[in-house]
Amino acid sequence: MSHRLKIAANHAEKAESPRALQVTDDQSQQHRCWSCGDMRAEHFCAECGHVQPAQPTDFFSFFGLPRKLNLDESVLEREFYALSRKLHPDVYSRASAREQEWSLEKTSQLNDAYRTLKDPISRTEYLLMLEGIKLEEQSKLATETARAAGIAKIQAVPPELLEEAFELNMLLEETRSETGSGMDEDVRAQLQEHGAGLTERLNQLHNELRTAWNQWDAGDPTATSRMVDVLHRRKYLRNLLRDLQDVLSPTA
Ligand SMILES: [Zn+2]
Repeated sequence: MSHRLKIAANHAEKAESPRALQVTDDQSQQHRCWSCGDMRAEHFCAECGHVQPAQPTDFFSFFGLPRKLNLDESVLEREFYALSRKLHPDVYSRASAREQEWSLEKTSQLNDAYRTLKDPISRTEYLLMLEGIKLEEQSKLATETARAAGIAKIQAVPPELLEEAFELNMLLEETRSETGSGMDEDVRAQLQEHGAGLTERLNQLHNELRTAWNQWDAGDPTATSRMVDVLHRRKYLRNLLRDLQDVLSPTA
């Protein structure tokens, strides 16, 4: 199996069962450095500095971080650049084939881990995934609920947005059907007002998310359901804003 394929296989496995890939105590034998036999640090042997085999691990563990959502992004960035330099192919140009391979595998893990954790939203989604919460399924359930309630066309509208979404969608429909003639200034003003309102709501959601983060970090496992809820409402809001933006500045 080629190197790239192996990494792809690791990723596929990771998506299916992240729990199974956590390093457990009975794997402690593998924690000895392959080169000098000493107990190794996470990525490099603390004694001899040799790179260690890439292990299937979650992204928090990769950086030696606890599974918490408030993290110092500047520290994460510093760690990312430090590891990137230490794992750089140039460093391994004269190393053994397997060390070259491990450093490449680790670089790939490093890039994925950094990209996922540095963004607050993808970090949240990733944590939820690790906790066994499938956002796709949740959103399917919400869609079915909406359909059952007779609002099939508007998928899973957050209740507090029902009225506004309805109004805005009507307005957008009208605007779209009036092609050719320029947009009425009054309509434009109304749309812009909607946009400002939605942006304000989006900011509120980000505050709600921070609150749920703090609850999670303080050890409250029920915070995950609040995060799921915020992410769904955020997605809906962003779609509305995107539709609005498409109408207001169609060339963009
Ligand atoms: Zn060693």
